[in-house]
Amino acid sequence: MTNGDRTRYIEIDVRSALNRVDSYRLPGLKWSLNPYRGCRHGCVYCYARYTHTFLELDPDADFTGTVFVKRNLVQALREDLRRPGWRREHVSIGTATDPYQPIEGRYRLTRGALEVLYEQLTPASLVTKNTMAVRDAEIMAALAQRAGFRLIMSITTLDEALARRLEPDVPGPQQRLAAVRALAQAGVPVAVAVAPILPGLNDDVAGLKAVIEAAYDHGADIAFHQVLRLYDATRPTFFRYLETERPDLLPLYRRTYGAGREAAPSYREAIAARIAALERRWRPRQSEKRLAETTAGQLAFEW
Ligand code: SF4
Repeated sequence: MTNGDRTRYIEIDVRSALNRVDSYRLPGLKWSLNPYRGCRHGCVYCYARYTHTFLELDPDADFTGTVFVKRNLVQALREDLRRPGWRREHVSIGTATDPYQPIEGRYRLTRGALEVLYEQLTPASLVTKNTMAVRDAEIMAALAQRAGFRLIMSITTLDEALARRLEPDVPGPQQRLAAVRALAQAGVPVAVAVAPILPGLNDDVAGLKAVIEAAYDHGADIAFHQVLRLYDATRPTFFRYLETERPDLLPLYRRTYGAGREAAPSYREAIAARIAALERRWRPRQSEKRLAETTAGQLAFEW
């Protein structure tokens, strides 16, 4: 299932680097920034696949097979942040792509964006599954000091085999934990997102405990979760995975989601209670304060 080198990269120019976010579900999220469109990582549950439908592309194969590179992103961001009236509101990086997918090694757009945010005293957060984030630890730590910054590492499971099937082109969970440690030691505030939680796959108490405990052990100061949202554009990829790998879970998903996007309230409530109990047990005391200090915007991401 790995994507190898089959991804086609298309350079585009953008008029603006920032997108205004106006979602009643994410009131803390004001501005998003995505250096790429599409994502080579190819997670089977990826919520962002719908963004390719706006381009009349297939959200299944094309989302990983055709990635758009916003080659003028850094200059566009500089112009956005110099506009009169810019109020240095929080910018959420990586809401619809992974800003550290492999092509970032060549274009360094995410790196450039962090430097501009630092110059312009603008707070930000960034979500990724890729260990390449460690490359930019220094500028992240400086931005955290100067204006506010948080790195959010997404870790769904510590089961390496399951992670390989769900997230075929992403560094494994132990590598991501090592990145959490390196970033935290470099002075970057790091959260771990146990997201998405997938019914029957990574929602067992032992598995969740393992991720949360490891997150704190490796220097994260916040762990949080999000239950899978099953967008229409995600269904074909995700159900193909289930049909191929876990047909036994199909009835559970039909029961839990029906034709909708959200899991049944009873399921979400049960998971919230499960996580809260684990958090009470494993969250270090100093994290209580950090959690209170962290604005909703810093953790406002979808999965
Ligand atoms: S979930 Fe994130 S890392 Fe995975 S394919 Fe989607 S955007 Fe990329």
